[in-house]
Amino acid sequence: MDIKAALLGTLPLLAIILVALLIERTNPAEVQPLRSAGFNLVYTVVFAVVQTAVVPLVSVVTVVAVNAAGGGWIKLPGTGWGLLFGALLYTFTLDLMEYLFHRAQHRFPVMWAMHSFHHSDTALNATTTNRHHWAEHGIKMLTIYLLVGVIFKINPAIVGVYAVISLYNVFPHMNLRIGFGRLSFALNSPQYHRVHHSVLPEHYDCNFAALFPVFDVMFGTYREPREGEFPPTGLDNHKRPSGLIDAMIWPVRVR
Ligand SMILES: [Zn+2]
Ligand SMILES: [Zn+2]
Repeated sequence: MDIKAALLGTLPLLAIILVALLIERTNPAEVQPLRSAGFNLVYTVVFAVVQTAVVPLVSVVTVVAVNAAGGGWIKLPGTGWGLLFGALLYTFTLDLMEYLFHRAQHRFPVMWAMHSFHHSDTALNATTTNRHHWAEHGIKMLTIYLLVGVIFKINPAIVGVYAVISLYNVFPHMNLRIGFGRLSFALNSPQYHRVHHSVLPEHYDCNFAALFPVFDVMFGTYREPREGEFPPTGLDNHKRPSGLIDAMIWPVRVR
């Protein structure tokens, strides 16, 4: 595996996260210690290296499976207005898949064992965005990404547009006192996603959407944040990783 390329590949994301950290200082939702952000930044880099090792392996399995299934029923256009339509359809479909996958992560203990690592952050901020267990991406590739590959025959332009759109994910994780109020159903926001990360029982199992909260509205998991509502975040058992090794073995660690 090419560790150097993996490290270089994280630079744009790290740059965006660092700028986001500076913006957070203008109107933070809560005062936070720096320690957690430092851990997340180191983890993001390690995650990228592990992903470089795992993804090619998983990709082969995915491609073989997609080819076996006839690969891509619907061909999405890659130029002009068609590209815009194709990218929107692709993004919307993938966001629905992300929503369903996220629901499963909270529903099934074996998946929660992994996803709870993302929720263990008591200082929700831009650096939390990539704090996902390293094996999660592989599982997504073999499930929702595989399914989208079976449905759509996509082109590099659409993949590029989606890659840019998915950077939006940093924004809802930011430690910012920003919400969209009564328009919360339109797009994910720092306040909307903070409620999903809330440690308070009254906020459990709501606001799962990654980009479009309309899926929460459709499936009955929508909870519009109240004015000034910026709850504390973390796990109800207050568990947190003690270090990088602990983070890597998070799903099977002794609790
Ligand atoms: Zn979650
Ligand atoms: Zn999150």
